[in-house]
Amino acid sequence: MSNERELVELVRTANKIVYFGGAGTSTESNIPDFRSQDGLYSLKYKYPPETMLSRSFFDTHTDDFFEFYKDKVLYPDAKPNKAHYALAELEGLGKLSAVVTQNIDGLHQLAGSKHVIELHGSVHKNYCRDCGASYDLGFVLTSVENTPKCTACGGVVRPDVVLYEEGLDQKIMTRALEAISESDVLIVGGTSLVVYPAAGMIRYHQNGQVVLINKSQTKYDDKALLKYDESIGDLLDRVVGQL
Ligand code: ZN
Repeated sequence: MSNERELVELVRTANKIVYFGGAGTSTESNIPDFRSQDGLYSLKYKYPPETMLSRSFFDTHTDDFFEFYKDKVLYPDAKPNKAHYALAELEGLGKLSAVVTQNIDGLHQLAGSKHVIELHGSVHKNYCRDCGASYDLGFVLTSVENTPKCTACGGVVRPDVVLYEEGLDQKIMTRALEAISESDVLIVGGTSLVVYPAAGMIRYHQNGQVVLINKSQTKYDDKALLKYDESIGDLLDRVVGQL
């Protein structure tokens, strides 16, 4: 594990940090990574989470999709943790230019981050498949039936999140790659970099200053400048405190 002082020095001189975050960024807010939870789900659900969160399942088993989605994907009471707050503070100090996240929970914005690029969409954005009307998370949570229906036209309201079998939004992908390629420091947190397209994306960083914060090994360990295997929130909180 790298020395903490090295990260403090790196952040001190940086002004275009990009944070690339995975599920591990939100586990400290008690939002579990559903990929590591198959055992739990199999007790209650007939299908693995990857199936229930797929586009074909949404289209053919819409009610079952929403039952699972509301039960296991939505965490409406989750609060930002120290990692989210430290990153918002770095942005406020003019050191961080963007957060690129694979999470859909909206906790970075709740912590005060302004420039958040959500690769997989957000549970806070929902729209009617028929007329396009927008709805917030509260509308989905309070729908009487499992499947929320548009109050204007009766169409199915779906979350604006990327389901399995669906492609990423290319405009969002382009913004993320631009931010990463212009970054002076790239901090990668809470992802083992095995889920597409994370590993390929961080190669767009040009400056040779990649920092990994992850509790397990990643495919990128050899190429990182600094590597930490502790709590993202604890580490970033201490680093911001020493600037
Ligand atoms: Zn509608």
